[in-house]
Amino acid sequence: MSKRRQITELVVPRFYDTHAHVRETIQVHPAVKPIALVCSRANIEPNTKYPIHTAQQAIEYRDGPTDGRKWDLDWSILPVARRYNPDFEALMLIQIIPVAYESKVESECVRATTPETIFEAKDRIIAAKAYPQGVTTNSAFGIVDWRAKGLRDVFAAMMEVDLPLEIHGEMAGYPSCMRERKFLPVIRRILRNFGRLRVVMAHVSTKEGIAFIREMNQRGYTIVGSITPQHLWLTYDDVLGQPHNFCRPVACYEDDRRALIEAATSGEPYFVHGSDSAPHPILNKQQPRPPAKTPAGVFSAPAMLPILAHVFDQAGQLKRLANFACRFGERFFRLKPTTQELTLVRETNPTVRSESELRELRPFLTGDGLYRFDRPTRDFVPVHDLDFTIPLESEPRGFRPFLAGERLNWRVKG
Ligand SMILES: [Zn+2]
Repeated sequence: MSKRRQITELVVPRFYDTHAHVRETIQVHPAVKPIALVCSRANIEPNTKYPIHTAQQAIEYRDGPTDGRKWDLDWSILPVARRYNPDFEALMLIQIIPVAYESKVESECVRATTPETIFEAKDRIIAAKAYPQGVTTNSAFGIVDWRAKGLRDVFAAMMEVDLPLEIHGEMAGYPSCMRERKFLPVIRRILRNFGRLRVVMAHVSTKEGIAFIREMNQRGYTIVGSITPQHLWLTYDDVLGQPHNFCRPVACYEDDRRALIEAATSGEPYFVHGSDSAPHPILNKQQPRPPAKTPAGVFSAPAMLPILAHVFDQAGQLKRLANFACRFGERFFRLKPTTQELTLVRETNPTVRSESELRELRPFLTGDGLYRFDRPTRDFVPVHDLDFTIPLESEPRGFRPFLAGERLNWRVKG
């Protein structure tokens, strides 16, 4: 027994996930559900296949079509989320498009973002997102030239109306673990040129990224770094051979992971929680059809709460969990602090499932859903539960949650 009296129950505000991907149509429900179960709010990323790049598209993505088109409510974010949390808020982003594209996906073309796009959207969105082209899932419409005049006009407009800019900070063309480190000068230049622009560096993954956020705050800029549960948990070696652990930016080295844990648990208000939960169908992950490769993205939402509780507990900083997981994000995005709460409890006798149990729980894939072997009834039953033991597959359409099948020390009470 440790000398410190062990905390066994903890009341925290519901989490604020500042970075979540919830996909499209039939994938929306399983992607949204685990977020709504533990969060009061989430920022919804705009890099769908056809990018969300106007306020109108963002609102339809959230609520369903506004023009009476027939639509399955399971395909829209809020109708799904509010089944699990009636007060859930989905805060929308638009993607900044550098030049117009003829879209092959929809009849409408993808329009270049202008200052007018920003002025028109500002009251209906939480931020605008800038992706470099080709660095992650659905980034084909991303930015190549970060000094382009049109882009600078958009940043100036955002600064004028005080709309935050979220950046995926990776430089294409470098080895995976160099990409974020190589991108930092781009963000530095943006901050220098647009001094009052509020910036989120999404999913910080390196110790240099952490040092950069600290330095820029000391220089008086307003920049936060979001940190994911998977980057607090994994290193590069956990990613090799394990497609479900592969995301962009990739988890790098142990000293990077340590720097991320130290930052997240430090109590510094410029490090905030953002899960970057990004489900992909299991088959795409495990057996991409050549020449396609395994898509980037970890479905971390079902595991975010036990991972963060575990990491803060290990660091002896459970008292700081609420600030990281919720309050600092609310403060940056100028949101009213949520009054929704969760009680976390420590599992008294955590066990890791044995290999044989794991094998018995391996899902059986059929055409219409996912099943597991139920020992008492000797039958295959649909997988529905999202309990603190992370289910091997989440219902109903086949995404594998991060750390599927493992047991962690913390769960939501009740
Ligand atoms: Zn992301």
